[in-house]
Amino acid sequence: RTRVYKFGNKTADGNSTMKNLLGGKGANLAEMSAIGIPVPPGFTITTEACTEYNELGEDILIGMIKEEVEKALQNIEEIMGANFGDEENPLLISVRSGARVSMPGMMDTVLNLGLNDTVVKGLIAKTGNERFAWDSYRRFIQMYGGVVLGMKPESKDDIDPFEEIIEHLKEKREIQLDTQFTVQDLRDLVYDFKDVVKKRTGNDFPTDPWQQLWGAIIAVFNSWNGNRAVYYRNMHGYPADWGTAVNVQAMVYGNMGDNSGTGVCFTRDAATGENIFNGEYLINAQGEDVVAGVRTPQQITKVGSMRWAELAKIEEADRAENYPSLEELMPSIYEELFRYQDMLEKHYRDMQDMEFTIQDGKLWILQTRNGKRTGAAMVKIAMDLLKDGSITDKEALLRIEPNKLDELLHPVFDPNALKRATIIAQGLPASPGAATGQIVFFADEAKKFRNTILTRIETSPEDLEGMNLAKGILTSRGGMTSHAAVVARGMGKCCISGAGALKINYKKRILTVGDKEYHEGDWISLNGSTGNIIEGKVATRIPELSGEFAEVMELADKYATMDVRTNADTPKDAKAARNFGAKGIGLARTEHMFFEVDRIKAMREMILADTVKGRKHALEELLPMQREDFEGIFEAMQGLPVTVRLLDPPLHEFVPHQLATQKELAEDMHISLSAVKNKVADLQEFNPMLGHRGCRLGNTYPEITEMQTRAIMEAALNLKAKGIESKPEIMVPLVGTVNEFLEQEKVIRKTANTVFEEYDDTVDYLVGTMMEVPRATIMAEEIAKHADFFSFGTNDLTQLVFGYSRDDASKFLPIYLEKGILKVDPFEVLDREGVGKLIKMGTCHGRRTKPELKVGICGEHGGEPISVEFCFEQGMNYVSCSPFRVPIARVAAAQAAL
Ligand code: ADP
Ligand code: MG
Ligand code: MG
Repeated sequence: RTRVYKFGNKTADGNSTMKNLLGGKGANLAEMSAIGIPVPPGFTITTEACTEYNELGEDILIGMIKEEVEKALQNIEEIMGANFGDEENPLLISVRSGARVSMPGMMDTVLNLGLNDTVVKGLIAKTGNERFAWDSYRRFIQMYGGVVLGMKPESKDDIDPFEEIIEHLKEKREIQLDTQFTVQDLRDLVYDFKDVVKKRTGNDFPTDPWQQLWGAIIAVFNSWNGNRAVYYRNMHGYPADWGTAVNVQAMVYGNMGDNSGTGVCFTRDAATGENIFNGEYLINAQGEDVVAGVRTPQQITKVGSMRWAELAKIEEADRAENYPSLEELMPSIYEELFRYQDMLEKHYRDMQDMEFTIQDGKLWILQTRNGKRTGAAMVKIAMDLLKDGSITDKEALLRIEPNKLDELLHPVFDPNALKRATIIAQGLPASPGAATGQIVFFADEAKKFRNTILTRIETSPEDLEGMNLAKGILTSRGGMTSHAAVVARGMGKCCISGAGALKINYKKRILTVGDKEYHEGDWISLNGSTGNIIEGKVATRIPELSGEFAEVMELADKYATMDVRTNADTPKDAKAARNFGAKGIGLARTEHMFFEVDRIKAMREMILADTVKGRKHALEELLPMQREDFEGIFEAMQGLPVTVRLLDPPLHEFVPHQLATQKELAEDMHISLSAVKNKVADLQEFNPMLGHRGCRLGNTYPEITEMQTRAIMEAALNLKAKGIESKPEIMVPLVGTVNEFLEQEKVIRKTANTVFEEYDDTVDYLVGTMMEVPRATIMAEEIAKHADFFSFGTNDLTQLVFGYSRDDASKFLPIYLEKGILKVDPFEVLDREGVGKLIKMGTCHGRRTKPELKVGICGEHGGEPISVEFCFEQGMNYVSCSPFRVPIARVAAAQAAL
């Protein structure tokens, strides 16, 4: 088995299809090399080797790959004409992590590896550039110390010992920037760094280049199991056994002086999707300097530079002199870079995110990958590539990550409210969206309020969890490619970066802009599309399905064979869902209608009544209200089918549990307080989820079913008289035995017939059942003899199949997920193996009895893309989900059908 793949000099052992084995970075380095892009030579150690390392340990792994690694390094030496560890003509290398998916900033990289006190002299002799050599050496010790020797601070309270030394020296020398260090300063840093390594670890900094290399390789493997990487993996559901590859590559130097530099660029705008080449760079810099916000990065294009200057309120002359674009400063390098970005986008047929370095006037490309982007950009780029013929319509559809559409469905600021807003300051529009929340200054306090805006000088990978929890992210430093900006776009989170007018004081927890002060807990709003930071809250409204988004939906409808319905209890929700393209209501829960203040009284009277007569009296009061509800919903759906579920929750949920309300009720009903109290105590259940609910209610109090059926039918007939069509589908909940269903069906059909006689008119309707008790799925063949449809209620079904109480699962589910006892939360993603087997069986058996049986799903899973795919595979007629997930389910349904 090959564990090491070489690349460089316009050839490569691997290619871009080998991401699982070589990681994304390694596979693309190989591909770029093969298509003639200038990539420093190197090699990739496979992800399989990482997994072997985790199983077998360090010694065995090194034994297995030693020979291959030595040979591959020799290959680099030949191409570069320099030798690793050589004291006259040294080769330095980088050791880079690279999993199969990109995990920005999550894992570790070491640059300038191979330096020691003698090699650094060779580097000086070879390049004649003392400053550069010492700069590289101090960077190497800092990175190696952090990544390999475990000296990176674990939390925000710890100080990076290397940064401490740097800050100290800067203070002493009264300078701000790394570039202002003298050669002597840099040399001092190297010796101070080595001292601190010795002090912290008890060992001398390793001088043997090969020892350095193996240490770095193992550290990169270990970074796959680092805290940050594990959190990121879990957040995205990436399994632990993927592992990371290790890329070892010849160094090219962006820190060789004013004719060198480093940067990142995007072939399109990652925030909006517009087809505009853009990016940032720094002269005389290395590695992550651009992203880390060490200095203010400059723009790649002249246009971007001017726009940036405008936002940063910098005069044109000052901009041209101090922050020139690459296009202006190094036109021929720019031209070459432009050519490569064009070439790479055409080659990969998708937006690329690239890293490059300029070494003494020569351009090198160090990485390319499909760029992370916002939901809006995802939609626009897919449709643009379709329109220019780069991809087919099926490919365009597959480029849509259904869950990311969620961002486009979030509320946007109301334009009228924006007109009245007080703008505090402006930053870079790093990631679009509208966010309103209370200021917090630390990532681990992002949960302090319900809605928070994480406000920081800059963010770092440790802040990931907090960034995910906050509603929006605001930074005072850093550009469009800063950590905050890139990560926010990936998360689809609103972000404004580099708002230089903000002064943030972490200690006092105060944000100052001009003469205004904002404290922790103060409300602010971010407009991620314009970069405007606004005082207080701003009203929002629901976005529209328009432009490219609407085009994606059209494409989805072209290929989807399964309908998407919605779960809606009110005309308002029903209308919203219809605007998002719902083809009906799959679940209208009727109990919500009873919880309203003016109705709950009648409901309580019904429950407290001792006789059938008393109950009927109370139900008569409820009838007109229910009828009105159904009229509203049916009208909103304009002839589309509406599945109405009969009353489901346990009765004790409706009765008052507080003394004051109990007294009130007793007075209202002219009965004694103790009678109310007794009834409440009577209704108390040990296990309400398994108690007196669902059709068990309808079967013990058929009057309720009667009233609900009457309300539905009268509503439909009233609308019919006005020329509005409705298609009611009455759903009996929580059926486990055939007789439970039969009894209810009898009541429903009898009541419907009575109403039809009274009105001397009829409507078509169906009577079906919710499949949520496991026994029902087992008895599907029998139940289908009588039921017109099945709707899988997967919330209860999951709860009952696993025997996990949904309300108590939070006590153990997180631990199960962490330990890997469960791969995913079964209440989020449908459990195909277990619950899915019952769904499959129920559907097959039901249709064996009744081939035309309508089957759907109405649990939360109906809006979850992976579960939607499963429903499609089972041949369901529809999935039903909450209104805001309808577009997501439509795309998921289409993708399943491709
Ligand atoms: P990440 O996955 O976090 O982006 P990378 O492996 O891409 O980490 O490396 C971090 C930085 O170091 C990048 O800016 C990259 O361009 C730079 N870098 C990596 N290898 C080299 C090299 N051989 N020469 C010059 N710069 C390099
Ligand atoms: Mg990194
Ligand atoms: Mg990178």
